[in-house]
Amino acid sequence: KYVDTNNKTKNFENIEKVGIVDRIERVNGAFVALVRNSELIGMQSAVRQIEDRFNNKFNYPYIFLNDKEFTQEFKSGIRSITKANVTFGLVEGESWGYPYWIDIDRADEEREYSDYVYGDSESYRFMCRFQSGYIFRHPLVENLDYYWRIEPDVKYYCDIDYDPFLFMKENKLVYGFNMALEEIHDTIPTLWNTTKEFMTKNPHLINPENNFLNWITKYKNKKRNEKRENEQLENEYLQDEYFYNGCHFWSNFEIVDLSFYRSEAYLDYFDYLDYSGGFFYERWGDAPIHTIAAAMFLKKEQVHFFRDIGYYHPDLGYCPEETDRVGACSCDSSKNVVYNQKCRRKWDI
Ligand code: GDP
Ligand code: MN
Repeated sequence: KYVDTNNKTKNFENIEKVGIVDRIERVNGAFVALVRNSELIGMQSAVRQIEDRFNNKFNYPYIFLNDKEFTQEFKSGIRSITKANVTFGLVEGESWGYPYWIDIDRADEEREYSDYVYGDSESYRFMCRFQSGYIFRHPLVENLDYYWRIEPDVKYYCDIDYDPFLFMKENKLVYGFNMALEEIHDTIPTLWNTTKEFMTKNPHLINPENNFLNWITKYKNKKRNEKRENEQLENEYLQDEYFYNGCHFWSNFEIVDLSFYRSEAYLDYFDYLDYSGGFFYERWGDAPIHTIAAAMFLKKEQVHFFRDIGYYHPDLGYCPEETDRVGACSCDSSKNVVYNQKCRRKWDI
């Protein structure tokens, strides 16, 4: 059986999807994107690249989610790019919008006076809250073991000739990232204090064994910071002069064992943050939240830097530096920008 791609009049939705490779080892994983109808061209471009670089060999399914019904044009536009199974879902209910305890007037006012990127956007906040606390519980996603998050307009620079899902599973990895940046501190003025409160109330949830709070924090006192090096003092995170350095995994790319987000520790943390209102009174992103949670609850060795995956999300990219892989990548690693690497360098130490 094969799909006749020359028959342009065919309704792609009714074609039985046929995989090229029936692989023996498969992971219960999928590409997942929250996306708007207006982003069809950018999403097609991303899917085209993922197919060409990886998925034409592996045939993992795609799941697209939207707070509005997807148009027929969007659905057939995506289905025209891939043979893989594609499903489209609606985001609704408590997962999108304001929880009842939020003071909406205050949220409106805070947006008006904020002057960072997306500071004035209400929907951006709904999006960040959804990606932080609900995407992994969506009916189309809740039965997946792993997801690989994608977005419109992202690029994949290099052939990926192994299965990152399987790699994660076989190595018992929980979180895979590609880029690590510094958050704009104005978007999260009270995130760290709220996190500290959470840690104080739930010390048993902090991974005693090789958590990586060191990577995301520093002391205000420079000398003390230098002294600390890699060593972690007991309960140092409760001290006032110890604060979040902004380092976070850029979550527009993330490959995650979703049992992490569905764990009691993560859900308790999300609820605690959600109740504090910072998604709306500030502009907390899902990226720092995923990262801080990983730093508290996981061991560093459960997190993997995919240094072999060349990736771009407007307006920053990461190009693998390994020379033996350069042939497979269409990017320039000498253009990897420095501020894009500060948190990453610290990770490598
Ligand atoms: P940025 O990456 O932080 O600049 O934010 P984006 O605008 O790329 O949003 C992140 C992801 O969420 C993208 O995949 C967007 O398509 C999606 N997204 C953002 N806002 C909305 C929204 O209001 N509705 C829907 N359906 N998707 C959204
Ligand atoms: Mn984006």
